[in-house]
Amino acid sequence: MSRFLSRAVGAVKPYVPGEQPQDKAYVKLNTNECPYPPSPAVEKALAASPAQLLRLYPDPDSAKLRQAIGDYYSLPPEQVLACGGSDEALAYAFMAFFDRGDPVCFPDITYGFYQVYADLFGLDAKTIPLRGDYALCPEDFCGLPGNLFIANPNAPTGLCLEPEQIEQILRGDPHRLVVVDEAYGDFAPGKSAVPLLGKYDNLLVVQTLSKSRSLAGMRIGFALGSAELIGDMNRVRCSFNPYNLSRLSMLCGIEAMADREYFEATVAKIMDTRKKTQQALAKLGFVYLDSSTNFIFARHPALEGKQLYLSLKESGILVRHFDLPRIQDFVRITIGTPDEMECLLKTIRRLL
Ligand code: PMP
Repeated sequence: MSRFLSRAVGAVKPYVPGEQPQDKAYVKLNTNECPYPPSPAVEKALAASPAQLLRLYPDPDSAKLRQAIGDYYSLPPEQVLACGGSDEALAYAFMAFFDRGDPVCFPDITYGFYQVYADLFGLDAKTIPLRGDYALCPEDFCGLPGNLFIANPNAPTGLCLEPEQIEQILRGDPHRLVVVDEAYGDFAPGKSAVPLLGKYDNLLVVQTLSKSRSLAGMRIGFALGSAELIGDMNRVRCSFNPYNLSRLSMLCGIEAMADREYFEATVAKIMDTRKKTQQALAKLGFVYLDSSTNFIFARHPALEGKQLYLSLKESGILVRHFDLPRIQDFVRITIGTPDEMECLLKTIRRLL
């Protein structure tokens, strides 16, 4: 730390992303990326894009990308904010809808970035415990003192609420904003809160193209909400990073949103591999939480979480382990290709 660092930033514990070791090639099942390439239309658009275009700034309104996202969800572009990854969309929500010192609520076991942003923006984080079985009970999330962030499906548990349960939380306090982070929502068909947007003006949905559309490397996410909520966040965006999406990101995002067929086939493959991997893990004695995502949160009674993570890493397989209360026994395994999962299972059999 330099002697110039502010006290406030010095006190923040930054987010720690999943490791990306460069020492050798790993079977990488630790950051919930998609094992399949993006739509062929993305590749074609990239190949047809002359470097000469990069001389110019991108469209600061991301108009075509917002239109493409809106078309997919049958929403007007005014209800769509395009961002550099959904992390950026979450940051804009934190900046737009809180004053310093305000309370912000989220579950005790959830996406780690909520706590980081709460600290960075000087908010009073209130963590609400999940139940003993890691379930999020809507009653526990009604009548809270501040705006609420919920990952649905949740990470790293993988558990998903029904839309009716989200509705119960939205109705619980109409004066409180509920941000539903659907980074993994595409792997839980029929569970999205997007259809509730017309009914509740205290709902903001955040999604990403990093997982189900194989574009983690391009950094594209978005927020959906009422035109007023999106306008508020856009005010922050224009005061912070008006050219927040690169030309190439927009190009790829537009093609990925338009290619529904490829997207649906990719999600179906991952859900199929998820089911087969769950069955194989159960045969090996693993206990896992019901997953509505592209990962499985699992533990084995005879293998300590950290030890399993370390042994797998030594064998060239990366999974994620969180050294945190209540979940140390688990590892989070991203769904890869069937071959990658076979490699994982073979290695676990050997370790057992
Ligand atoms: N929300 C959740 C729950 C996540 O797990 C992630 C991935 N780390 C994100 C948001 C952010 O994803 P991205 O910025 O790649 O869109």
